[in-house]
Amino acid sequence: MLRFTGTDQQQPQTRPAKLRRQDFDEIYAAFDPKEAALQASRCSQCGVPFCQVHCPLANNIPDWLMLAAEGRLEEAYAISSATNTFPEICGRICPQDRLCEGNCVIEKGFGSVTIGAVEKHITETAFDNGWVKPIAPRAATGQSIGIIGAGPAGLAAADMLRRAGHAVHVYDRHDRVGGLLVYGIPNFKLDKKVVARREALLRKGGIQFHLNTAIGSDVSFVDLRKKHDAVLIATGVYKPRDLDIPENGLGHIVPALDYLIASNRMGLGDNVPAFDSGELNAEGKKVVVIGGGDTAMDCVRTAIRQGATSVTCLYRRDRSNMPGSQREVKNAEEEGVVFSWLSAPHSFMGDKNVREVRVQQMRLASQENGARQAVIPVPNAITTIEADLVIKALGFEAEELPTLFGEPTLKLKNDGTIAIDQKTFMTNLSGVFAAGDIVRGASLVVWGIRDGRDAAQSVQQFLQQKKAAAA
Ligand code: FAD
Ligand code: SF4
Ligand code: SF4
Repeated sequence: MLRFTGTDQQQPQTRPAKLRRQDFDEIYAAFDPKEAALQASRCSQCGVPFCQVHCPLANNIPDWLMLAAEGRLEEAYAISSATNTFPEICGRICPQDRLCEGNCVIEKGFGSVTIGAVEKHITETAFDNGWVKPIAPRAATGQSIGIIGAGPAGLAAADMLRRAGHAVHVYDRHDRVGGLLVYGIPNFKLDKKVVARREALLRKGGIQFHLNTAIGSDVSFVDLRKKHDAVLIATGVYKPRDLDIPENGLGHIVPALDYLIASNRMGLGDNVPAFDSGELNAEGKKVVVIGGGDTAMDCVRTAIRQGATSVTCLYRRDRSNMPGSQREVKNAEEEGVVFSWLSAPHSFMGDKNVREVRVQQMRLASQENGARQAVIPVPNAITTIEADLVIKALGFEAEELPTLFGEPTLKLKNDGTIAIDQKTFMTNLSGVFAAGDIVRGASLVVWGIRDGRDAAQSVQQFLQQKKAAAA
């Protein structure tokens, strides 16, 4: 260990931008086993590991780095999977520069340990060697739980509860398991085969999926509660934030998720009429994406791969104040995306479809009391850029669940997400729990996993108490 002084940081090879622009394959190659061990050995085994403190799952990073450095990968996998239900996914798509790696103490001057890439290497080696086994519960409890939503939060909870011996039923309105892992995040960040491999394992372990089943319309929430001993709501947040500017209703101005779902479905071989008609296809188009988060980054990079003639990202703050990962911005720039910082949409122009975006130049106000700097329009500073497809990536809000579920008493917070008891994850309805983005607001996969695991523990306690009370 401690080799950081003599060994430079080395991330796995990134495919050249010229090549990766042409397909939707993942952009990072796998680590060579020797290089993975060497990179793991750069860790200085901190007494207080800030990497672990800033990992939402509190992964025991120093221990599995040491084991990986010694080539003891089966043990490394046992430790890493003890706290993370889907390490192969987090290793690929956690914004490590804001979490574990961004807080590695050797960052300054030496470059952090490549924690995410080593986590992926350990888990891929475990899959290749058959160390990742389906769940095999010791005994059935005779109790069942209904989980609404097959995204990371719902799946992490399903895994834990199945291990405890419950019958676990996961309901999703989509036709595939994975939530945003499948229909939001593009293949070049997370290959869909990685999600399908996990799904197969969960199914083998006895988790039952009910797809194409929307709770609130196909099955009522009341019936679901009657059918199961407990219910977990893990429905995510999907209502897109919109712009309130002139000519927002023109054609070819589309919400980000519609665009990404169409692209992901095409990659999965589905028939997508809105893609074929050109409405949700960037090929041959001048594309403008509005927003500065992860979703915007995924849209710009998808548009490049679809063959857009130009892709411009408008963001109203500057580079250092954007919410998206800096690593993703760098990748996007290499692939040919142009970023227009301090730029907000003023209005759209066109006849039936959009032709131009009028762009208002912004500036950052001075910082007050450590609060996030406000953005202010610069007077008389409006420019115009051509566009034949505008993608709005302005974030998401929660859908109106009490109405959708016909359950007006379900308590919400001011922003429409579900209110829970922070300790038990239970909503104000007895036996109804909630986790993931629908509680936290739009967040990260790793937080969804954490919440799903924590909620599962509380559900487990609730079910045990219920059984004891009935005995
Ligand atoms: P979701 O993943 O949204 O899953 C919710 C599931 O519930 C969905 O499958 C939905 O179909 C289902 N559902 C909803 N309502 C019903 C109903 N009434 N009945 C039945 N089923 C229902 N995070 C990262 O960490 N890294 C990234 O790189 C990253 N990139 C992202 C890119 C995009 C484009 C987006 C939109 C998000 C990204 N995120 C990323 C965020 C991350 O995907 C989410 O935080 C995470 O998926 C939330 O998990 P969840 O299980 O709470 O919800
Ligand atoms: Fe880092 Fe995410 Fe892995 Fe935690 S789960 S160690 S934050 S990559
Ligand atoms: Fe190792 Fe960096 Fe974590 Fe310290 S902070 S234990 S050096 S990975």
